[in-house]
Amino acid sequence: MRHQHCHSDAKKVELPTLTHRLRQSSRKVTGAREAILDLLRQHPHPMTNREISELLPSGLCDLVTIYRSMHLLEKLGLVKSYHFGDRQVRYELINTDNAHHHHLICKGCGLVLELKGCFLKELERAIEGEHGFKGISHNLEFFGMCLACQKKKATA
Ligand SMILES: [Zn+2]
Ligand SMILES: [Zn+2]
Repeated sequence: MRHQHCHSDAKKVELPTLTHRLRQSSRKVTGAREAILDLLRQHPHPMTNREISELLPSGLCDLVTIYRSMHLLEKLGLVKSYHFGDRQVRYELINTDNAHHHHLICKGCGLVLELKGCFLKELERAIEGEHGFKGISHNLEFFGMCLACQKKKATA
């Protein structure tokens, strides 16, 4: 688990910056939206609605409100959704200095590592050239077994 917080020394975006972005889109900064943004701000990896719900102060809002809030925040470009192949949607705050990146996920324990940068820009350009598309994007996540899980398996 030693890479768990590999991303945590990255500069955390300030909460007022996020709420300002909400206001700029003429959206009300409700208690729930602010609390969700604050929570995501402090978590370097994508979270499910249920995980968010469990970490919010109890009684602040129900799961439906969280679903709606995440939908809105995604529409406004404040969060990005990820699919890690387990039918759950996970949300991560869009960090302006690391907006596009990929994840490496352990199938054993669910550890999530953030991979730096993207190695597919050239491929995108080639696809654009070949098919005449513009504004190509992609979603890609990597799966495997982490060191700790390999060791556990070896000693089991
Ligand atoms: Zn693992
Ligand atoms: Zn990429």
